[in-house]
Amino acid sequence: MKKALAICSVISALLLTSCTQGWTQAESELITAAAYSRMRVVTTANPSDSLFLREKCAPLTKKEIMSPEFGMLAASMIETVNDEYHAGVGIAAPQVGIGRRMVVVQRFDKAGRPFEVYVNPEITAYGEERALGGEGCLSVPDMRGKVERATSIELSWRDAVTFEPRHERIEGFTAVIFQHEIDHLDGTLYIDRASELFAR
Ligand code: ZN
Repeated sequence: MKKALAICSVISALLLTSCTQGWTQAESELITAAAYSRMRVVTTANPSDSLFLREKCAPLTKKEIMSPEFGMLAASMIETVNDEYHAGVGIAAPQVGIGRRMVVVQRFDKAGRPFEVYVNPEITAYGEERALGGEGCLSVPDMRGKVERATSIELSWRDAVTFEPRHERIEGFTAVIFQHEIDHLDGTLYIDRASELFAR
């Protein structure tokens, strides 16, 4: 009986930890070392990076988005995707070595085409129409491909400041970027979905 109780308390302690957990020490160190500047992009050219890119990412908690690390990571991801030599239109946290459900997407459907941060994004529905378009990825060097994607999606996410739930229907190229980036959070790369791949 005592043993059973002890096991129960260990389990409840673990559950409590997973609900309120903060950043791991490794995540915190990586984010702090970048200090709002560009981070190293994890790529398929490196064997251990390749394995990391295939992992499923963990959701962020309200406690984590309220922490200094979150603001630093968001700023660093924006800096990384804006790299003048390898500029992209979106980036997912695992691409900078952080296995969390967070993406930065350039909103081509908004004035000024801003980069915006999305926490725990999820596509809740896909429009019926599909279109074939060209794609590349900062994590898959020297390659391009053609991928069929839905031209509209229903997106749910958590607000990056308040953690309030948000929802929006998104269309066109921006919808394609969201599909590509959210795939990263489940360890899927565009090369898995591409009907054609070619070196660039
Ligand atoms: Zn990508």
